Amino acid sequence: MRRPNPGLFPRRLWICTQCSRARYYSVASSKTIRAANKKTSLPDFPARTRFAPSPTGYLHLGSLRTALFNYLLAKRTGGQFLLRIEDTDQKRTIPGAEQRLYEDLQWAGLQWDEGPTVGGPHGPYRQSERTAIYRTHAHDLITNGHAYRCFCSADRLDSFARHRSQAGLPPGYDRKCAELSTEESEDRASKGEAHVVRLKVEGYPMFEDIVYGKTGQNRSPNRLDLIDRVYDDPILLKSDGHPTYHLANVVDDHLMKITHVIRGTEWMPSTPLHVALYNAFKWTPPRFGHVPLLVDKSGQKLSKRNADIDLTFFKDTQGVFAATLVNFAALLGWSHTQKSDIFSLEELEQIFNLKITRGNTVVAFEKLWFLQKAHAQRFATKNDPVFEEMVSKVSKAAQEACPTEQLVSILQSRPLAEYIPPLLRADAKSYTNASEFVQRNSTFFTTALTRPPYTPAASPSKSPPQAIPMATLHTAAAALSLVPESHWTIETHKFNITSYDGASAILPEEPTTDTYSSPEEATKARTAADKTFKKELYHYLRWALSASAPGPGIPETMVILGRAEALRRLLEARQMTTDMANESASPTRLSKGAQSGESQDADTAWMGSLSPKS
Ligand code: GLU
Repeated sequence: MRRPNPGLFPRRLWICTQCSRARYYSVASSKTIRAANKKTSLPDFPARTRFAPSPTGYLHLGSLRTALFNYLLAKRTGGQFLLRIEDTDQKRTIPGAEQRLYEDLQWAGLQWDEGPTVGGPHGPYRQSERTAIYRTHAHDLITNGHAYRCFCSADRLDSFARHRSQAGLPPGYDRKCAELSTEESEDRASKGEAHVVRLKVEGYPMFEDIVYGKTGQNRSPNRLDLIDRVYDDPILLKSDGHPTYHLANVVDDHLMKITHVIRGTEWMPSTPLHVALYNAFKWTPPRFGHVPLLVDKSGQKLSKRNADIDLTFFKDTQGVFAATLVNFAALLGWSHTQKSDIFSLEELEQIFNLKITRGNTVVAFEKLWFLQKAHAQRFATKNDPVFEEMVSKVSKAAQEACPTEQLVSILQSRPLAEYIPPLLRADAKSYTNASEFVQRNSTFFTTALTRPPYTPAASPSKSPPQAIPMATLHTAAAALSLVPESHWTIETHKFNITSYDGASAILPEEPTTDTYSSPEEATKARTAADKTFKKELYHYLRWALSASAPGPGIPETMVILGRAEALRRLLEARQMTTDMANESASPTRLSKGAQSGESQDADTAWMGSLSPKS
């Protein structure tokens, strides 16, 4: 069982009679809640919300957001989040969809407090198991005069519809059966005559939407057009005795004590009818909040073609973390005043409110990847259990992408499970998914680097100095290599690089007041020279160690590769630049040794016992 939100309101433990599980209910004092919710448009009481999917498809980005907003509203106010399966349309039910909904919601961390698989005091939570309840309620409406049986045959309704359509008029019903006496209606029904039950619409009231404010058209129950008086009088109970969505939805929300219905704007046209139904039952409707439509950058509604695809695409194909997708979905139409957009589910539970923006929400997937990198970094620094999953996925991706001999040569008997974590920690800020990570950091998975010819970073036109002598870079790299295995750490390398005297390496002579007008000028020249040198040194080391690929910093790279491999690469790079200089006149000035074409053996002499070969 999930730990209760310790946040806003205290909670009390209760044991569910159906499933015998322990659950928490809020026992917040209304004064506490009112004070806390004043500015957040949150209710002054624990909200009971629900997610009511139909198992006619899988969870996708839009429905995940709906589920999430309902979940967060319940958690933020210390209320309960329910899951209800609206499977009245059995013909459209997809086998296995219900199970997948459970799995996907749980993957996202949206565990329901009541619903299928966990039970609860207002079950059953699957509409197909509640048919008798809907029938009773439809009958109640007939008894109180707000609904009536309609025995019109399909033929009659068809020809009525045809006649209206030919006259260019919208569909409607002429209320023929509303005139039947109670006795006749009862009699025909008891004899088994096929019929539906229709709501006798008395009007469609306006309602106050949490997002859109006063909404609806306050329409009258009938329309008198050119030829007929027609009514909407929607069907509540079908001729097979099963409820329509409207009846089941309203009855369940009432019986399950739902206080807030947060759903997509596509349901907004149905809400006046739902409010009319609540009125017919003499029930208080819940608060409705319709969340805006998700559209792509060109304003098109998200569809299968532009990524409103089921969650599997994000989680399995794209390797998106649950935390990322939840964070991304939360920001779709919800505005907050926090400094950063990066939230875990637990953080969202603490800060969510009902400040939902109106109008279509543009889904920009760049944000998803920004969040993914941010969460990867969080997992890496916190050593979160997800980090272990990342390690095993990257290991698997590396094994898939690289031939075994290649991995063996770089790993040098280190297991991947040991090699990957420091690499992941060092470059988590760029993590999108395992295979892209391996691709981006491919130089860490091979000993065979393909380096382009070295091109200096320093602009030859800048002063001082015009060009960094290659020999000074070789010397600096050699100095960094002198660190013994026991001190081969990120800190040591960082210290050595920062404290390396770059100015002395390249300035012809120590800046003095003979050359410069003042001691300040001399210091300035020194600092500038050191900066230019360091820039070139980093550039050279990146070229040497990872063929200029972006990725972990230089000290981190040296540690991840290990001393032997780092030294081998530095040596290889030195040799390459030496050879290049011998072959052609390079724009960089070269060391005396390099210019004289020293042999590889002489070249490696400076490494002495530190050489990987020794
Ligand atoms: N069963 C509806 C759906 O599939 C639920 C609509 C509502 O939330 O009221 O989205």
